[in-house]
Amino acid sequence: MSNTVGVEEKIPRNFITDIIDDDLKSGRTDHVATRFPPEPNGYLHIGHAKSICLNFGLARDYKGTCNLRFDDTNPEKEDMEYINSIKNDVQWLGFKWTEIRHSSDYFDRLYGYAVELIKKGLAYVDELTPDQIREYRGTLTAPGKDSPYRNRSVEENLNLFERMKNGEFKEGEICLRAKIDMASAFICMRDPVIYRVRYASHAITKDKWCIYPMYDFTHCISDAIEGITHSICTLEFQDNRRLYDWVLENISIEARPHQYEMSRLNLEGSITSKRKLNLLVKEGIVDGWDDPRLTTISGLRRRGYTPASIREFCRRIGVTKQDNVVEMSALESCIRDDLNTNAPRAMAVLHPIKLIIENYGQEGVTDTSYTVSNHPEREDLGSRTITLSKEIYIDAADFREEANKQYKRLKLGSEVRLRNSYIVKALSCQKDSEGNVTVVHCEAVPNSVGANIEGHKPKGVIHWVDANNCFRTTVNLYENLFNTPNPGAAEDFLSTVNPNSKTVIENAALEKSLENAKVGDHFQFEREGYFCTDSKAFEEGRVEFNLTVALRESKKVIV
Ligand code: ATP
Ligand code: MG
Repeated sequence: MSNTVGVEEKIPRNFITDIIDDDLKSGRTDHVATRFPPEPNGYLHIGHAKSICLNFGLARDYKGTCNLRFDDTNPEKEDMEYINSIKNDVQWLGFKWTEIRHSSDYFDRLYGYAVELIKKGLAYVDELTPDQIREYRGTLTAPGKDSPYRNRSVEENLNLFERMKNGEFKEGEICLRAKIDMASAFICMRDPVIYRVRYASHAITKDKWCIYPMYDFTHCISDAIEGITHSICTLEFQDNRRLYDWVLENISIEARPHQYEMSRLNLEGSITSKRKLNLLVKEGIVDGWDDPRLTTISGLRRRGYTPASIREFCRRIGVTKQDNVVEMSALESCIRDDLNTNAPRAMAVLHPIKLIIENYGQEGVTDTSYTVSNHPEREDLGSRTITLSKEIYIDAADFREEANKQYKRLKLGSEVRLRNSYIVKALSCQKDSEGNVTVVHCEAVPNSVGANIEGHKPKGVIHWVDANNCFRTTVNLYENLFNTPNPGAAEDFLSTVNPNSKTVIENAALEKSLENAKVGDHFQFEREGYFCTDSKAFEEGRVEFNLTVALRESKKVIV
């Protein structure tokens, strides 16, 4: 895998590619046209990535087209900020739309089709209140009953619909409904509302309209107008397919797109509902939609996920009709694989304590710098210089006064190798008033760099940075945002937020070269994990780092 994957990527065969292959063979269509239709009422999340990879991926694999369509029929909730973030995320994931469309581009035509349904006696203006409409709708076991307004004349309906458009009614006072079947086994076919009154300024059409078409009426017609051949949505819209087909059969439009349903992506320990994500943001529980603990696309980006790793994840989970929950480790292993191959290595001491090399400067202990390779297997990633002086930092977790044989780090009286440098033996230590070790005194074995010295057997290798030449900065560590694997199912999901999901280390000691890291740079901090520069801090002129993922699945990085 690389960060520039693209050309050789192909969607693994699934039931949708089977359908497309059959359609191309049978001649139902001679091309593939898909669309990705987000409602611009929030930022995109990992569930959307599944839909993006499928829709844009099909267009790529079949040399077809894929539109980005903003499904903007809900004027209150939509916002230019969301529209821009969605465009940015789709591009960042590595996809290019054929055209950008908005459902609102079709408001005039949608109005015309609604008038057509009225003229055919297939739609009527209803004056039941929203509560009454719900009551009249019936239940899964009981049929609905007809509205007293159901049998108005065509003329009366045309007149009332026109007056609705002209703003003569209040919200909730009146609506337009399709006239289908109040006894249908499918509740969505029991005279669904297709237009309602809303006095809200729309992000694009502003105040031109005060009536807005409903999703089920809008989506199928938008698909038909754009010549979509395969309209893919998630399983909860299975029943609505009847309404999708009913609308298209009853209006004068030639194109016949087909709707296909796949299972949603549910990711363990993560929220994929924009409404709930919005709540986390609004309540200030996370630092915005791009908080690195969120599985929004922008959160994953800020966390250090690469576009290739997200595409690979979507490839691995596949496309089926079975509902299931994917483990977070499946997502993490995709970024780990990518960064293991592509991230340069560096040394970073997260909880520094000082190590003083008492015999530094004496015979055989005079090294001042090393040229070290950036990646053990990739010469193309080059090398860098690190410096050494009498005082260095090691991690507090790498030293103990006493420890058993399993402890493969530094303890008093025993030896360890400093990565790329000398073997050192701990002689003594100093502590602060609370008993925490602050300084360790040691002695280096002369001439032991890159060499085994008879009589010296270091217990392990630890990382370090030069205390006189390092970069002190903030490093953010993250744990799961929720305490439960299925926060979405919790009655009060906010109560499942893990209060320890973020740990800020304010004064970590990093090797000097990291001072020049740029936005989007990834590193493996040796023995610690994979990290990336934090984009928000960078915009504010600081270089700080975020934990992307631990080195191994089981290793707990938070200490
Ligand atoms: P939300 O509940 O977050 O609002 P949504 O389905 O209403 O989700 P849309 O913006 O309408 O969000 O979705 C755009 C497209 O992304 C739709 O085609 C939808 O089916 C798809 N999608 C949304 N969530 C998921 C998911 N978890 N898995 C797969 N596809 C998804
Ligand atoms: Mg939606």
